[in-house]
Amino acid sequence: MRAGSWKTLRERCARRVSEIEHGVGIPDPWSADEFIDRLERLRGREIDLCAVSWVSGESTGAWRRYADHDVIAYAANTSSIHQDLIILHEVGHLVLDHQGQCVLSVEDAQRLAPDLAPAAFAHLLDRVHGATEEHEAEMIATMILARIAAQRRRTRPVGARADLADRIETTFG
Ligand SMILES: [Zn+2]
Repeated sequence: MRAGSWKTLRERCARRVSEIEHGVGIPDPWSADEFIDRLERLRGREIDLCAVSWVSGESTGAWRRYADHDVIAYAANTSSIHQDLIILHEVGHLVLDHQGQCVLSVEDAQRLAPDLAPAAFAHLLDRVHGATEEHEAEMIATMILARIAAQRRRTRPVGARADLADRIETTFG
């Protein structure tokens, strides 16, 4: 991806995340369920959040758009930060009015795994083959995570352990 288009993508995503922040806010303390409830009210469309039991070799997250509602499936048997990443990635597709569907592959999930150095995100995203929509969805997810981390820092004592979201905030905040 050219530097120019990356900048455009990032700006478009930042605008949409700001709209979400002002429109529904980021739940504090963070709750994916609460966030989805708020998005439903904002969009006037139901979102079914389905926890599925993840089996090695299968996709860990998926989104499908229907005429009157959306379905987001995510792996139940993985860490909460990983679940948040999956759900927020799919939310990214929703709030950008993408058409169609997304299936996060195992490869994607590994790429998004908590042990990944956040500094590598942009580099990796740039190398990913596939649609701009996937780049955008991942950008939305990381930007919302950055806001969750920033919010947590404001409301929690200094010295709380740095987690993935905190480190992502440093990169994308
Ligand atoms: Zn996707």
